[in-house]
Amino acid sequence: MSFVSLDRLVRTGAVAEKDAGRVEYLWAEIARLKKEKRAFIPAHNYQVPEVQQIADVVGDSFELAVKSRNIDARFVVFCGVRFMAEGCVTLAPERPVYLPNLQALCSLAEVDADELAERQEFLRGLGRKFSTMTYVNTYADVKALSDVCCTSSNAARIADRLGTPDVLFVPDQNLAYQVAVKTRRMYLPPPEANLFDPKDYLERIRPLIQEGERQGLAGNVFAWEGACHVHHQMTVDDIARIRAQDPQAVVIVHGEVRPELQRAADQVLSTAQMAKYVETHPEARHLAILTECGLVVRLELEHPEKQFYKACRLCQYMKAIDLENVYETLRDEPAERRITVPEGVRGGAARAMEKMIALAR
Ligand code: SF4
Repeated sequence: MSFVSLDRLVRTGAVAEKDAGRVEYLWAEIARLKKEKRAFIPAHNYQVPEVQQIADVVGDSFELAVKSRNIDARFVVFCGVRFMAEGCVTLAPERPVYLPNLQALCSLAEVDADELAERQEFLRGLGRKFSTMTYVNTYADVKALSDVCCTSSNAARIADRLGTPDVLFVPDQNLAYQVAVKTRRMYLPPPEANLFDPKDYLERIRPLIQEGERQGLAGNVFAWEGACHVHHQMTVDDIARIRAQDPQAVVIVHGEVRPELQRAADQVLSTAQMAKYVETHPEARHLAILTECGLVVRLELEHPEKQFYKACRLCQYMKAIDLENVYETLRDEPAERRITVPEGVRGGAARAMEKMIALAR
């Protein structure tokens, strides 16, 4: 991302005027410590702008995972949520990775590995030829049970290259829908959360599987029952309100929003693709971007010539990272903030992540 001055952050309200002095001090201290200690700071697109400004790289989870592998640094301070820091350890275990605040978790990532093993056994029992495709928004024990990982930017491409007709997609049910649409597979909705009953589930999905066969689809996407609470709370009314106000506005949604929003939007994109779209479409001057607010604030700062309608939501986990805890982490390298992955699961998780990187090329 391009550099945005502190003056500008204050003028646009991204940083409160009373905090400007402290931000200036922390920026200078973080830059000094980063150089002295040879630290690397990746930051997710959803981080607050003053944190994005001190990062070595800003991007979506795929970009950050790839760019944090081959770096000349002694340690990493990861400005994102825990599963992202875990991903960084998984791919490069020799380098310490710190998370500035251990409360930076993710509602989507809470998948029970035993339940996943049970669901895989269930599908094997049905004789399905499937791959388990796991969104990177999961912890290492779940990734280790998977054939391949994916992000929202490469999910459809990877599903196309898997070589099995069926996909068990974990954990985001809405991204599973997008993968089904883009790869011409039948979307099989998830069982209700915490209520997996094999008999009931089979009764619900059997007619859909038969319908897919009748239509000559490539296979099925079995959706897991997870959702990101930030994107899942968005509704079609959000889109209807914007369209009523400005019929010319380009409506872009993230793949984690509900299927009805994906159908109503002009574009369904990952965060990196959203940033690229705004950059490469000068004619799109009025936009509504339905995702976490961190990206929208950044795009507003980078593109003052465009008008952005506010329909974003905040993720409290992403906002658990701030300049203060990044500074403390750089200064002290506190052992309790170091993220580790048990070696017994790391190998399996790394295999699934490396396969993602290979298939996404
Ligand atoms: S925005 Fe959603 S998927 Fe991303 S960290 Fe927050 S809860 Fe998790």
